[in-house]
Amino acid sequence: MIICAKYLITGDGKTVLEGKAVVTGEDGKIKKVGDREVLVREFPEEEVKDYGDATILPGLCDMHVHLGYWFSQPDSFNYNDQLITLFALQHAQAGFERGITSMRDMTSARKLCATIKMAADKGFVTVPRITHVDNGMCMTGGHGWDDDIAQVDGPWEIRKEIRRQIRDGAEWIKILTTHRSHIPEYTQEELDAAVDECHRRGIKCGIHAGTQPGIQMSIDAGFDTIEHGTFLTYEQVQQMAEKGLAWTPTIMAYTYLYDVTKKNMEECAGKPLNDPVMQKEMANWEYFEPAYKAYRDNFKKFYDTGVTVLAGTDMVVYGSPLLPLPRELQYMVEYGITPVQAIQTATSNPAKVLGFEKERGLVEEGLDADILVVEGDLSKDITRLNHVKLVTLGGKRVFEDGIRYVGTTNMFM
Ligand SMILES: [Zn+2]
Repeated sequence: MIICAKYLITGDGKTVLEGKAVVTGEDGKIKKVGDREVLVREFPEEEVKDYGDATILPGLCDMHVHLGYWFSQPDSFNYNDQLITLFALQHAQAGFERGITSMRDMTSARKLCATIKMAADKGFVTVPRITHVDNGMCMTGGHGWDDDIAQVDGPWEIRKEIRRQIRDGAEWIKILTTHRSHIPEYTQEELDAAVDECHRRGIKCGIHAGTQPGIQMSIDAGFDTIEHGTFLTYEQVQQMAEKGLAWTPTIMAYTYLYDVTKKNMEECAGKPLNDPVMQKEMANWEYFEPAYKAYRDNFKKFYDTGVTVLAGTDMVVYGSPLLPLPRELQYMVEYGITPVQAIQTATSNPAKVLGFEKERGLVEEGLDADILVVEGDLSKDITRLNHVKLVTLGGKRVFEDGIRYVGTTNMFM
């Protein structure tokens, strides 16, 4: 297939080309990128798909998802293991219509993502490329303990849990160490042990850290990615840039919760202050209002330090949009970076951090043919991401013009 469009964003954060085309090969890789006329002549046997006034770019990667996060469903009592698996499957596949061809799951039920990947390998299902942790870990009673996160304490128990999760298929490790308070959950000794155990095994690790001093402790320990980093300081971002630690801000998630809280507060107006709903919303407001402002006011300054920024959505609340990666990138642009720079946080940056830079993340010869085509000139208008024309995964069409193509073709029965 030869995919043509007026514009091409390679994914490196700066390059925009015009009049190019991409040839995909039978092996699922990009065979060639070049001038449209030349390629059409060179490969006369290939079907030409011309999208006209549109932009070709690499398929996007959402670096912070929770495919199996069913806890806030109103009928959560129905969610047995089988339903959770199907829930996670439809969640993963919803990525295709947003141009998402890979994702990093940052905690789901034990072995859930490993099982979905196995089903994809067998050809039972078609899903984006998934890199995943297992169910993560927090201290006893720490953030996430009521969402099936493993509760482990002490350096050796943490090392043992990391070994168990790796045994059960974890490709990354996730630790949670802060919630909304300024008391860090894990001690420095525990965080150091976690990073040492992961890196000793050649596995990378990310940490949920949003408040001080938990963020500084996480940077000192050397976690490969800081998730959220809501109240990061400029000096800390500089330290991260120097140490090569990446930042997944998840702006959308906090802004969404800020918006929801604002609306709920308005609805609560007139309720007595000791009303439990009112109290809950007030506590939410105390956290999400400064969180929203921190992202809005600091994002560009932090980006300019050269820290590796990763786009992640982290949307887990019932009723919230699924995998709203285009909106995350839109916030980044609203806060000061260019559309082409924002695209890099969801293409080549994730590929590098995940260790797949030789396989994907750019529109480049020899890489996986995970291609996204959107209407219009995306380099000028990031909201064009909401107008997806075509998505291919390994050269196979998985979404086009409003229809998902996720049927199975590889069954051995
Ligand atoms: Zn999360």
